[in-house]
Amino acid sequence: MAVERTLSIIKPDAVAKNIIGEIYSRFERAGLKIVAARMLHLSREQAEAFYAVHKERPFFKDLVDFMISGPVMVQALEGENAVARHREIMGATDPKQAEPGTIRADFADSIDENAVHGSDAVETATQEVNFFFGPDELCARTR
Ligand code: UDP
Repeated sequence: MAVERTLSIIKPDAVAKNIIGEIYSRFERAGLKIVAARMLHLSREQAEAFYAVHKERPFFKDLVDFMISGPVMVQALEGENAVARHREIMGATDPKQAEPGTIRADFADSIDENAVHGSDAVETATQEVNFFFGPDELCARTR
């Protein structure tokens, strides 16, 4: 298994619920290390650019409105098989379909407001990490 990096976003609903620490604990228990992190309030332009792949989908405008409704916590996570491992602990997009004990099963209210984002493949993970973080902001966790 390879060491990978993936992008995580704790979305405005979960930030509002004050569960950043709870979600970070789950990353750490899963063997994922935070190698960069930032809180920010996305602009409409940033949210549209980040989710550009969905721009033709019917939910696009609502998704962008939701993502700019409050601050988000963005982090790059590193670990063995990090992309798939992170998706596993997030759970399915629709919390009603998510496995018990996953972040979305435990904390998401709906398919629209579903607490967290995670890159879905190694290639998109690289693009998404680079969307938010420059090379100087990614820390080596070798100690
Ligand atoms: N989404 C939505 N309605 C839908 C499907 C998706 O609002 O019917 C939102 C939801 O916030 C989801 C995001 O769009 O997390 C991206 O969708 P994707 O299918 O990529 O799911 P994810 O990779 O986040 O599980």
